[in-house]
Amino acid sequence: MDSVDRRSFIKTVAGAAALAAGDFDARAAESGGPVFLSTWEHGKPANDRAAEVFKSGASLLDAIEKGINVPENDPNVMSVGYGGLPNEEGMVELDAAIMDGTRHRAGAVASLHNIKNPISVARQVLEKTKHTTMAGEGAFRFALRTGFKPEQLLTPESLKRWLEWKAKPERETFWLSASNHDTIGMVGTDGRGHVVSGCSTSGLAWKIPGRVGDSPLVGCGVYADDNVGAASATGDGDLMTNYCTSISIVHYMARGMSPQDACAALLQHVADSDPANRAGFVCVIAISNKGEVGAASMNSKFRLKYALWRDGQSQLLDSVVLY
Ligand code: ASP
Repeated sequence: MDSVDRRSFIKTVAGAAALAAGDFDARAAESGGPVFLSTWEHGKPANDRAAEVFKSGASLLDAIEKGINVPENDPNVMSVGYGGLPNEEGMVELDAAIMDGTRHRAGAVASLHNIKNPISVARQVLEKTKHTTMAGEGAFRFALRTGFKPEQLLTPESLKRWLEWKAKPERETFWLSASNHDTIGMVGTDGRGHVVSGCSTSGLAWKIPGRVGDSPLVGCGVYADDNVGAASATGDGDLMTNYCTSISIVHYMARGMSPQDACAALLQHVADSDPANRAGFVCVIAISNKGEVGAASMNSKFRLKYALWRDGQSQLLDSVVLY
């Protein structure tokens, strides 16, 4: 397929996805209610919690934070928070960020150990400091100073997986290549033009200690601007960081694209700049300040399932795929 055909193909599949979510979008435009959009299956209970918190009268930031706490606290979600798979030395290192589209300000933590809710520590960075990003030991000490309790984040299952990986003579390591993912990225609107983006992950399983992925980086794992919308990403952070995925999507939207077309356009740019990226694990979600949504995956091998909460309805949907 040549690039012109591919572009019209993208428009077509983007259109189909928009139609799939069309009922929702039409009703949201009428009702102007809150919308929550998250990555992967664990995004559904996270959205449900975010909606519940928001309906109780809390802020959109609170809703996104508390929503993301759900997979962080779930030991069965082995890519986020408690029970997340560790780095190659057996230490769980967590990355998270949250961005407020009104203040145009984020809080983020990277390589945080022994604290199971990095999104809440990121929120404290946003609310209690003039800093944006804190990392490693400093982030851990900051968490203790702001009231978080240190915990062992390895579960019996994640320890078992790490020991099995360690025991394999031919094990894959990040000194050369990549494997396990599944961050929670969540974007939402309050239905009145305010947007927030949040992201939390244990990063790549067996990563080299100290590695920071895209998730806690403003413009990469999160971006939010009330003038336009918000975006988040999941997949190979070592690839996506180089494309500043979330800010790029929001900028495409600022130039008039729908969230769905902006997600597809970003992926197309990543693919066009290096054809090898077509095989990459790159998945993105976006929401406009009017509550329209978009989600796209680079290829069908790594196809994003995303969760959408709108008008009291919670759904799991398949994203558009480019290759
Ligand atoms: N993007 C995350 C990272 O590279 C991983 C993921 O999305 O699953 O750390």
